Amino acid sequence: MKRNRIVVAVLIFFLSDLAAFAQTPAENIILITLDGMRWQEVFTGADSALIKNKEYVDDVVGLRARFWHDQSEIRREKLMPFFWSTLAKEGVLFGNRTYDNNVNCSNNMWFSYPGYNEILSGFADDQRIKSNDKFNNPNETVLEFLNKQAKYKGKVAAFGSWDVFPFIINEERSGVPVNAGFKPATQTRLSPREVFLNELQVEIPSPWGGVRLDAFTHHYALEYMKKYKPKVVYIAYGETDDFAHNGKYDAYLKSAYQTDQFIKAVWEWVQSEPQYRNKTAIVITTDHGRGTIPADEWRSHGTKIKGADQIWIAAIGAGVKAQGEVKVAGQLYQNQVAATAAGLLGLTFTQDGKAGKPLELSK
Ligand SMILES: [Zn+2]
Repeated sequence: MKRNRIVVAVLIFFLSDLAAFAQTPAENIILITLDGMRWQEVFTGADSALIKNKEYVDDVVGLRARFWHDQSEIRREKLMPFFWSTLAKEGVLFGNRTYDNNVNCSNNMWFSYPGYNEILSGFADDQRIKSNDKFNNPNETVLEFLNKQAKYKGKVAAFGSWDVFPFIINEERSGVPVNAGFKPATQTRLSPREVFLNELQVEIPSPWGGVRLDAFTHHYALEYMKKYKPKVVYIAYGETDDFAHNGKYDAYLKSAYQTDQFIKAVWEWVQSEPQYRNKTAIVITTDHGRGTIPADEWRSHGTKIKGADQIWIAAIGAGVKAQGEVKVAGQLYQNQVAATAAGLLGLTFTQDGKAGKPLELSK
């Protein structure tokens, strides 16, 4: 009898604990962006026309062998296996326009700085954010907002491949450290991997002037997380956009695949660490879409490119109910990402009413 009572007590404790867990907002948040990654490839995999176009692909046979399948559900899994296994099973994906599930930029610029401002500040600011120039963002980002809260102060960090991020995040004013562009790791105690990354970053020429290869951004971020255990991390991968501008569809696809694997590595690390396991949410999105018609416009984006405002949002982790790919009609906006990230931590981010509302992820 006594033993039964203990069992019941333990069971009640366990169940109430589970119920509390389901409602507990996340304790850590990781925001991730893939620059200019089209919803078309995220939801349907490699494009049937582009993958065989010799103008955009060096090795058509090799690329098709790696990423092609007649069924789009299998094709997308070949391109982004983590998205379509773990994320689709345990998380949520918005933006498949085949189901009229739409996500759009609310800014009218459809290029990077305005997109990142909208993602991070929670509202479009077409009057002030209308170029990719290196000027400090007048708007407070959700990273800066969190860095002002006692619980998160000094526990916010950002990593980006593009060298404009220190300005978008306004590193100077926000106090959020931003390792972006070709900046090396500069903390006092560098890990052996960071020392090596610093060496390689100088030795390996980037194809671009202001953007480094994403492997550097990824590993700098991961090393920092292992060392300092920040509560709020932003990782901004950049290759997809630059390879697309270069008209390299093969490199664009390979980069999409690799970024998917980077995100997998972040998620697996998170779930292996007691401070993060089941207490961390990851939100993933993109700054803008790209064109489709005429075909060559897959390379471009901006106000004049039809469809370049079409984006997608995904999430997984604490506070995120497993809904998988959302197949119902709906309309979401880029300006909801910042409030969503804050909301997952149990905080309200409104920008005096200017910010988009948080997505309902736990419903
Ligand atoms: Zn671009």
